[in-house]
Amino acid sequence: MAEISLRTRFAPSPTGMFHVGGARSALFNWALAQQRPDGVFVLRIEDTDAARNRPEWTEGIVRALAWLGIAESDSHFEGPYFQSAYQPKHREAAESLYSAGRAYYCDCTREQVQERRDNPNLGYDGFCRDRGLGPGAGRALRFRVPEGGPTVIDDQIRGRVEFENEHIEDFVIARADGSPLYVLANVVDDIEMRITQVIRGEEHLSNTPKQQLLWEALGQRPPSWAHLPVIVNEKRQKLSKRRDKVALESYQDEGYLPEAMVNYLMLLGWSPGGDREIMPFTEMVPLFRVEDVNKSSAFFDEKKLRAFNGEYIRALSEEEFVERCQPWLAAGPWFPENFDADLFARIAPLAQSRIAVLSEIITNVDFLFLDAPVEDPQSWTKAMKPGVGSEMLGSTLAAFGDPSLSWDAATLKATLEEIAASHGLKLGKAQAPVRVAVTGRTVGLPLFESLELLGRERVQERLRTALAKLDAEEGAEE
Ligand code: GLU
Repeated sequence: MAEISLRTRFAPSPTGMFHVGGARSALFNWALAQQRPDGVFVLRIEDTDAARNRPEWTEGIVRALAWLGIAESDSHFEGPYFQSAYQPKHREAAESLYSAGRAYYCDCTREQVQERRDNPNLGYDGFCRDRGLGPGAGRALRFRVPEGGPTVIDDQIRGRVEFENEHIEDFVIARADGSPLYVLANVVDDIEMRITQVIRGEEHLSNTPKQQLLWEALGQRPPSWAHLPVIVNEKRQKLSKRRDKVALESYQDEGYLPEAMVNYLMLLGWSPGGDREIMPFTEMVPLFRVEDVNKSSAFFDEKKLRAFNGEYIRALSEEEFVERCQPWLAAGPWFPENFDADLFARIAPLAQSRIAVLSEIITNVDFLFLDAPVEDPQSWTKAMKPGVGSEMLGSTLAAFGDPSLSWDAATLKATLEEIAASHGLKLGKAQAPVRVAVTGRTVGLPLFESLELLGRERVQERLRTALAKLDAEEGAEE
């Protein structure tokens, strides 16, 4: 028998923000689709909520997917399809369920239902089930949930999940104005798109029995279901967009590499086995099994993600690293006139071994491209201790002024060590005023290499400016 082809889907409702949880769902679906030559990943935009729907949001989804490597140009990719375009199909399905006696019209108002029930949690009471009402004004169409027995969801992650039918109300599938409800639209679309595998967040599990009943009532074999564990923060709270950093875009803006992000997201609930964690997506694809996904909640550990990203940054070639830094460098006030690509290429390896996200490149190299170092009063006060500050700057300026001094990191270091010793200071303490005078900050890339690259003249000029500022401050205090 020919194997049934595998068709997965990712069905986001556009909200203007691409959630990291959505990114994980997309990647798990994508991994499965990639496993087979004829595997398909359908992108369906669930855009029926017209009020909350803008074309740029769809573009944002497509762009975010592309950033993750889920590319429209890939042969496994199909879509995007738009739920709104399938509305006639949703209506047809509602009508066919009615004609087959699987749905009935109901004219009860919410108040009437509430009056009849002492417990509002019980939902609709089936009042119109056998009244034989036809379509008409004020009448919604309800699905006739089979009586007796449970609806069993065979979830690939959670195992067998039973829902007692007596606890599933006869839910509405089309409103009084004929417009179909989301629960129906989602199923009809999956049927139309011949979806065989649904992988989505756990929050959808409670809707699944209703959807499975709809699949069956529409004469179709339900897909394989898999509900992914929730993603939580360090306090074990479900990630929320109000409290946590959940937008994929904010990670992108900070300078997370897509390959590090993809790697990390794949581990939210799944592991390739062994203790390997850093693994490129292409190597994960053949190992991925949805049955191996964990059901307990997955901790989104930003620190770990940062560490991953640092590793990915260090694994880049020097040229690649330089290339990846460009968007951040090009956003600086020095760009393009004061940017010096050769100089950057020379300092880049020092930064590559130290930064965790690409945006950190800015504070590490801005001293090279700004006319004057950034002003950071806190660093200034910390480094320019009375006595030490002007002593060190003065002596350093004198020593660096010697034209016979060779301008290389090793000589500069030896020179500063001597000065430090002559003032009875450790090098670490002694170099702080020099660092702040030249870079504006107390922390940064190795100082002597930085001085070498900035060049004799600019270093001297900055030392002079700092010394003058310090003298003026000390003068003012007297
Ligand atoms: N549109 C739904 C969401 O964004 C997805 C529903 C599904 O995957 O079935 O949460």
